[in-house]
Formats: sequence, C-alpha cells, structure tokens
Amino acid sequence: MNYEFRVNELAEEFGVHRNTIRNWIKSGAIKVDKGPGRQYTMEWEDYRALCEKFGRKPRLNPNHHYDPAELQKISTVVELPPFHLDSRRKTLYDDPSWADTCLTCGTCASACPISGIDGLDPRKVVRMAFLGLEEELLASNWPWKCTMCGKCEEACPMDVEIVQLMRRIRSRRERDKVPGPIHKGVVTCLERGNNLGIPKEDFLFLLEELGDELAEDGCTGFKTPLDKHGARLLVTVNSKEPFAEPDDLKWWWKIFYAAEESWTIPSSNWEGVNWGLFSGDDEAMKTIVGRIVDNMRRLNCSALLLPE
Ligand code: SF4
Ligand code: SF4
Repeated sequence: MNYEFRVNELAEEFGVHRNTIRNWIKSGAIKVDKGPGRQYTMEWEDYRALCEKFGRKPRLNPNHHYDPAELQKISTVVELPPFHLDSRRKTLYDDPSWADTCLTCGTCASACPISGIDGLDPRKVVRMAFLGLEEELLASNWPWKCTMCGKCEEACPMDVEIVQLMRRIRSRRERDKVPGPIHKGVVTCLERGNNLGIPKEDFLFLLEELGDELAEDGCTGFKTPLDKHGARLLVTVNSKEPFAEPDDLKWWWKIFYAAEESWTIPSSNWEGVNWGLFSGDDEAMKTIVGRIVDNMRRLNCSALLLPE
C-alpha cells in the first residue's frame, strides 16, 4: 500500500512550505515515485516514519488491520517533540523553529558575494542542515569558501543564523581535514605565538628598526613602545604585516604619535588575528583570546586594538 499525495497536500499536512517538500523529494530525504499528473506516491511505512520524525499522527492505512497496541503506539506519536527529521544525536540542526522559519526565498543567495562559486548557495546549506544531510555538509567545501561576512544573514528576512551554521559545520570537521593553510596557522599560533611562526627576536628587531625609521621620518624622538606598562592601548598585530608589509605598521604608529596616544605592543603573543574563529576551533580561539587578555592584565592596559 502506498501513500498518495500532491506536494501542496503534504506541505499542508506537515505545516511546511511547498518548496520544502520539493527539496525533500529532490534530495532524496523522502523516497517517492512520480505520477500520474502532479501526484506522488511513497511507501506507507516511509510516510509513517516521516510522521514519527515530525511527531505527527499518521493517517490510518485503509488496507491494514490495526491491533489495539499498534493503535496505541500511533496515538502516542503526537507526544513526541516536533521536528525530528534527523534522529541522529549529533545533528547540526538543533533549533527546530528554523524549519518553518526559512522560507527558501533565496534572498541569502542573492546577497552572498560568492554565491555560485563552486556551487555555494547559503540557502542550500540551510536546507541541507534542516534535512539532516550532516555528512554531506561536513564533506562539502562550501562552508570553507564562505568568508563569514554575514551579508546573507543581514539580508535574510527571517533572521536565520547562517554564519553560525557555517561555523558549526567547520567546527565538526576533523582537524586534519581542515584546509591546510588555515589549520597550519592555528597550530603555529598555538605553538609559536603567531600565525606565521615569526621568531620573537626577529619581530623585536624589526619593530625597533621601524621605530628608528619613523624617528628619522618626522616623528622626532619616536621609540617603538614594547611592553610599556600602564599604556592605555594594547596594540596587537596581524602577522602578515611584519612578514610581508612591515611599512604598513608605521601608518598606525604615525597616527598614534600625532595623537599623543599612550600605547604599546606586547613582545610575545602579539598576534591579533584569531584563525581559531575561522577554522571553527573553539579551544584554540579561547587560548588565543586568553593570551591577549593576559597581556592586557600584565601591562595594565584599558583598551585593545585588533588589526581586523
Ligand atoms: S534568506 Fe533566510 S529565509 Fe530566505 S532562503 Fe535564505 S535562510 Fe531561508
Ligand atoms: S557569510 Fe558566507 S554564505 Fe553568507 S554572504 Fe558571506 S560568504 Fe556568503
């Protein structure tokens, strides 16, 4: 015995948008046969399983004799919490209200500056999460293409937390499968205090040299303030600058000099770019933030400048 339905009928029965049903069909989340006309059919047992996942009471199968225990079981289905499309415990999707919240309108995809690159579409990511396609999302490179700029979320009329979802997907990937450079940056930062592994003596030498250049270039008496206790502002550094664009540091310093700012750069753990945020590594992110907090306390600073 099959369960026959039209897309709009099933959408109404489960209280979701018709596009949601179409997405389920397209993704194989529900197994159906097409036809005739706009009609679809699915195995009665599949229909019952879907009802169970949604905590809904299934219709009675006209061709089946129900014994009282079975009827009792069906009637208790309504006691289940709603929206359990994916019964696996480790689901990405832990806020059932999203299911109906997302309108599949595609506004997020229109706002995304890299939509279409390698097939990335934030709307698809949201739908896949809702459909429980966790393994597929973890294997996908889409969340790693995302710049986490938040434009999709900003544009979403329903406030779906797309950036948070992208990050959660990243955080669930095994660390040795995180894209190489970003993972290496996190590991290097944890081991050596900055993302590019610049040795402390090289960093200090460069900073002093840049300070001397600035003193000769109109900032009379300038000396790079390293580990200056009691400075108001703690300045952290993007390791890319001392590594590749050291002169960029001087533009900030010139402004501080002109403004007579009280500031300092810590001689260790000065990295201001936290790649733990981007790789989804909460522990690493916490450690790196903790180091900055330690520097603030050690030097008794009251304000912080991050390079991003
Ligand atoms: S903009 Fe929001 S509601 Fe529309 S498809 Fe994207 S996530 Fe869903
Ligand atoms: S946060 Fe990611 S998915 Fe959203 S608009 Fe930015 S790049 Fe696109």
